[in-house]
Amino acid sequence: MSDDDPTVPVVCEDCGTDTRVSLSDLRETLDRHNENQHDGDDVAQVAPRIANELANVVAEDLDLDLDSDENEDEDE
Ligand SMILES: [Zn+2]
Repeated sequence: MSDDDPTVPVVCEDCGTDTRVSLSDLRETLDRHNENQHDGDDVAQVAPRIANELANVVAEDLDLDLDSDENEDEDE
């Protein structure tokens, strides 16, 4: 599975940044950048045009993780 690590374009309008991050580093990179540069504001983000596409990939990729978390609260 280590070969299957696509990169996604990340943009930060504030910084004028336009870079590519591997999917596995995406969350950490965004978090770190926004923490360090923007006081935790979600300024840097995945390029909107592929955000939709990515959502599908991420959903597939993280489904198990999200699922195991969400399920805990479901039965209230
Ligand atoms: Zn920035």
